[in-house]
Amino acid sequence: LVVLDHVDKWYGDLHVLQDIELTVHRGEVVVVIGPSGSGKSTLCRAINRLEPIDQGTITLDGEPLPAEGKELAALRAEVGMVFQSFNLFAHKTILENVMLGPVKVRGIKKDAAEKRARELLDRVGVGHQAAKYPAQLSGGQQQRVAIARALAMEPKVMLFDEPTSALDPEMISEVLDVMVDLAERGMTMVVVTHEMGFARTAGDRVVFMADGAIVEEATPEQFFTNPQSDRAKDFLGKIL
Ligand code: ATP
Ligand code: MG
Repeated sequence: LVVLDHVDKWYGDLHVLQDIELTVHRGEVVVVIGPSGSGKSTLCRAINRLEPIDQGTITLDGEPLPAEGKELAALRAEVGMVFQSFNLFAHKTILENVMLGPVKVRGIKKDAAEKRARELLDRVGVGHQAAKYPAQLSGGQQQRVAIARALAMEPKVMLFDEPTSALDPEMISEVLDVMVDLAERGMTMVVVTHEMGFARTAGDRVVFMADGAIVEEATPEQFFTNPQSDRAKDFLGKIL
């Protein structure tokens, strides 16, 4: 579904993505892990074209990513993204946050968008909070709203960039539960996370990055029990 072919990117002299080859199949959950600064966020941002790349190609469903205009807006709808910070519109209610994209970008009628938004808010367990503003919710609840908002656009793939790392420990599992549910429903997902429990239970494949390159790719089972590279062994030694 998503194919990165010989992708390179530089920030000045820094070769932040180095010859990245990655295919994410439909329905697959790919977990990206690696040390800070290894290029994980840049990789995610490249997939929905928040960052341009310098060389190589990225295709979604066989189509190259559009560079600008209406096509780019459509791409952003097809590639849902959830960040570490929740990025909700502070002056809009939870319900409005989830309805906004479908109405503005997809051109869906307000009542249909509201019905769908309420279903999604119920599904992520915050349906009863629909009339509140983001600041009135806990971090975990806000992050679940952010997931519902991305899902409202009916994306083909969902990107998660450390979605639980800004949360208090007791709120992490409620967000991970929503993500596991999404994975079980067959959503194609790319997940940058240090939550190894999630990687093991929901991940189909682990991609280990270091210094801008994919160093290792394996099933979670293989990766955690028998990492091949010294970089991966070193990394796992520090976090497990
Ligand atoms: P973390 O685990 O800390 O989130 P990461 O793996 O997501 O790290 P990136 O955010 O992708 O890493 O950053 C990769 C490298 O690119 C880092 O060295 C970072 O300093 C650098 N970098 C990121 N964004 C920019 C930018 N806009 N301009 C210049 N350098 C950048
Ligand atoms: Mg990052």
